[in-house]
Amino acid sequence: MNSDIWESDDPRRFRIARYFFCFARWIPIALIVVITLYVYYAYVVVLCIQQVENDIQRIVYLVFIHILLLMYASTFFRAVFTWHAIIPHKYTYKHPGNSTVSLQEGLLEHAEREELILHQKTPTGEIRYCSKCEIIKPDRAHHCTVCNRCILRMDHHCPWINNCCAYSNYKYFILFVNYSFFICVFIVISGAPYCVLIFTNDPLDSNYQKYNILAMVLLCLPFSFSTAMLGFFHIYLALQNSSTMETSHPPLVLGKRDKYAFFIGRRRNLESVFGSNMFLGFIPIDNRPGNGYEFELNPKLSTDSENLFRPHRPVTNSTDNTNVISNDIRANEPVTSNNTDAVEADSPVVGEQSSLLN
Ligand SMILES: [Zn+2]
Ligand SMILES: [Zn+2]
Repeated sequence: MNSDIWESDDPRRFRIARYFFCFARWIPIALIVVITLYVYYAYVVVLCIQQVENDIQRIVYLVFIHILLLMYASTFFRAVFTWHAIIPHKYTYKHPGNSTVSLQEGLLEHAEREELILHQKTPTGEIRYCSKCEIIKPDRAHHCTVCNRCILRMDHHCPWINNCCAYSNYKYFILFVNYSFFICVFIVISGAPYCVLIFTNDPLDSNYQKYNILAMVLLCLPFSFSTAMLGFFHIYLALQNSSTMETSHPPLVLGKRDKYAFFIGRRRNLESVFGSNMFLGFIPIDNRPGNGYEFELNPKLSTDSENLFRPHRPVTNSTDNTNVISNDIRANEPVTSNNTDAVEADSPVVGEQSSLLN
C-alpha cells in the first residue's frame, strides 16, 4: 500500500482510502471462510451422508474431519484475532525537539537508564528506533506498515489472516498452516475414489452431487501443496529460531550479520514457539516461555560486553528478569543429559554467567 495515501493532507481522501483499505484487508479471510464452509458442506453432506454407504467408513470420515476442522478453525481464529503484545513502556522515548543532545545520544542515555537489553543494531551500528511509534525497537521487533505499529518478534505480515505473524500468534499461525495441510490431504485421499467413479460407472445420484465432490477435491489439491511448503518452511524457521525477515535480512548483532544470532539449540528453539509441553504444543493455547522483547543470544557469538547496554543485570524476583537470567544460566550450564541442545550450540565462557548474576 502506498504510504503517500496515509500522509495525504486531504482528510476526505485519507478517510475514503482508509475505509477501503480496512474493508479490503478482510476479503482474504472472508474467502477462506466461504471456501471452508463449502468444503464442509461438500464433504459432510454430499460425500459422507449421501454417498458413503458403509456406516463404519462414514463414522470414521466424520470423526476425523470434525477433529481436524476443530483444530483448523480454532488455530485460524486465534491467528487472526490475537492482539499483539504491547511493547513495554520503558522502550518509549520521545526526543525533545529543542534538545542539544542528538537522537542517538538520547537513546543511549535512555537505554542505559532503563537497563534495556539491546543486542540488535542498525547497519550503521546505532540503536534501532521507530520514529512513528516513538519507541526503541526491542531485539527482533519491526514496524509493520500495514498494522501501523511496532510488532514484537515480527516474522511477516500475512494478508490471509489480516494480521502480523509475530511473537503473540506465531504458534497459532504455524499450527493453522499445518492443520490446513492435514485436512486438505485427508479430503483429497478420501474424496478421490468418488471422483474416479464419476468418470466410470456414474453411481452418484445426480450431476449436482458429482460436481460438488469433484470441486471439493480440486480445491483441496493445490492447497495441500501450498500449505505443505509453507508449513515445512515455518517449522524449519522455528527449528532455527529465525524468521522470514531474518532469513532475507539477517540481524546485525555484536557487529556482524548472522541469521542464526538467536539459535539456542533445536529443542529450545522449538520450545520458544510451541512451549515445553509436547501435547500442549499442538493446541492453540499460549504456553511459551519468554516475554517477546528480550532474547537469549546464540552461545557461539562473542559476548562482548561493550555491545550490551546492560551487561551487569541485577537479580530481582520479577518474572521477566528471572526468565532472562535463567535462560542465560541454561545456556551456560555444564553438559547434562537434559541439556544436549546447549552442548550442541557450543556453550560460551562461564565468566559471562557470573557477570549477569553480579
Ligand atoms: Zn513502529
Ligand atoms: Zn502487520
